[in-house]
Amino acid sequence: MSKSISIIGCGIAGPVLAMLLKHKGFLPTIYERQPGVQQAGISLGLSPQTFKVLHILGLADACISLGSPLEEIVSYSQVRQEVIGKLDAPGRLREWLGWPLLMISRSAYSQFLYTTARERGIEVHFRKRLVDVLQEEEGVRAVFDDGTEAVSDLLVGCDGLHSTVRSVLFGAEEPAYLGLVQIGGFSPIPDIFRDWKGGKTYQVFGDGAHFLCTRVTDTQLAWATTVPEAEEAKEDWRRVSMTDPSGQALVQGLACADWENGPREVVASATFVTKYGLYDRPVGDTWHKGRVVLLGDAAHPTSPHMGQGANQAMEDIYHLVRLLVLAQPLTSASLSAAFTSYESLRAPIVARSVAQAKKEGQNRVLVGREQCEKRDENMMLRGKGQDPETVRLRMELFQGPFMGESEV
Ligand SMILES: Cc1cc2nc3c(=O)[nH]c(=O)nc-3n(C[C@H](O)[C@H](O)[C@H](O)COP(=O)(O)OP(=O)(O)OC[C@H]3O[C@@H](n4cnc5c(N)ncnc54)[C@H](O)[C@@H]3O)c2cc1C
Repeated sequence: MSKSISIIGCGIAGPVLAMLLKHKGFLPTIYERQPGVQQAGISLGLSPQTFKVLHILGLADACISLGSPLEEIVSYSQVRQEVIGKLDAPGRLREWLGWPLLMISRSAYSQFLYTTARERGIEVHFRKRLVDVLQEEEGVRAVFDDGTEAVSDLLVGCDGLHSTVRSVLFGAEEPAYLGLVQIGGFSPIPDIFRDWKGGKTYQVFGDGAHFLCTRVTDTQLAWATTVPEAEEAKEDWRRVSMTDPSGQALVQGLACADWENGPREVVASATFVTKYGLYDRPVGDTWHKGRVVLLGDAAHPTSPHMGQGANQAMEDIYHLVRLLVLAQPLTSASLSAAFTSYESLRAPIVARSVAQAKKEGQNRVLVGREQCEKRDENMMLRGKGQDPETVRLRMELFQGPFMGESEV
């Protein structure tokens, strides 16, 4: 068997997987349904796991220069009308683990990964929407909506939340809508936050709504409010200008637009906004069939409240590539063993992260003064303004996918 690998999806996971595979002597090619890298979405938090993987490729420092390393998270209770905690652990991560927690525009990161992958000789084919995958004796055939096909030795589905590869493998089952939406965007840093030294996240816990804003560049904040909404709002991550009436409509009536001490100013000065529903799936323990395997959101989509979607995808990449290197020469039997090890290593950890993200989301939109006061008091006394379980799990996850030297 040679080493050709089709990667479906050029979002966050696809280009990094391709670069690491090429680094280890495999022959990856990416197929993406969009016409190019999308200037869409808001921001991502990249935690040390991402930088450990990017560092293997010599890309960590270049990536860090594109965002804002987080020093502190300040939490405010709208119900108690006071600051309920300041967490400076993010600022100490570099000392502990060698790498920061970086807040970055999702499109800047995606563009950086795509451009670097191209510079490293990775072929990326846009306008290739995968519609089917046929497994054959000696390889995998990817079928695209323009009638073309691509044959390779194995195929990795990095095609995100509504993964077609997943549907082909395991049947079409939609992800679960969590009854929550986020509305958010970008704003210039308002005067009220001018004294911020270094990267900061400011979050407000309200009654039935949560607001968070974070510095992503020296001049810009990314922000999002989480609110319950019965009707699904499927994500296309499209940014709408606030000069457009539909942009104005998205922020109309948001509770946080009236909150003092920051949210009001941030929402009022937004340049672009977007709205998206939040989804996840129960994390299954089988992510492969034959020569086809899932990775990132295709395998385990999550709501965003742990800030782990993009980072867990990097851990998948590290272990999958490590195991594929060990599985050489690639045979049906060695591939099956590698994929099974990959799933059994990854599934239990991601399942915990997905479950805690869901719990964190519910906590953020609690309704009723008494419940909210109890929540905020607990966070003030036990978690420096955060759910203590969320802080504990994050600190554990930050130590993945390896400590010390990389094995890839
Ligand atoms: C445009 C966009 C903006 C986003 N913005 C945010 C954000 O602001 N905040 C946040 O927390 N998360 C955001 N996400 C989700 C976030 O990127 C992922 O949760 C996480 O980074 C895991 O990455 P992934 O590569 O597994 O999935 P994704 O980053 O979602 O990438 C999946 C890729 O697969 C492509 N694809 C899907 N189906 C097919 C198909 N049939 N054939 C070929 N290609 C296909 C998609 O177009 C996409 O480029 C965004 C996703 C997208 C696609």
